[in-house]
Amino acid sequence: MSAQGRIPERSAGLAECSVEHPSWCDRGLCTASGEAVIGEAHRSAPTFVGTEGAGRLRASMSLSQAHAPWPTITYARLHLAGLDVGFGTVSGDAALTAEQAADLGDGLLHLAGLALESDR
Ligand SMILES: [Zn+2]
Repeated sequence: MSAQGRIPERSAGLAECSVEHPSWCDRGLCTASGEAVIGEAHRSAPTFVGTEGAGRLRASMSLSQAHAPWPTITYARLHLAGLDVGFGTVSGDAALTAEQAADLGDGLLHLAGLALESDR
């Protein structure tokens, strides 16, 4: 068979791609490369929130965006630890769209405002 009749070989999972880091990307946590391998992502440094003296809940929040040759959306990542389940605690992660994160934040701010007003 001549070279002209061959189907070009594809490199599995690899696609050349330029890397443009979002302004929030922490280069120490970012895994984006020019090859755009599955699983690569831009990541922000996490922000930690603790509730010392009022339960065991700890939260960290960050942003991530999959790195791919096509457009991807940015997720707000929420990690919660110290969630009560029976007599123990568990932790868990959620990836929220910007709209979901804003709705969650608005809901928490609303409840915090009502609680503060009630406690005056
Ligand atoms: Zn990055």
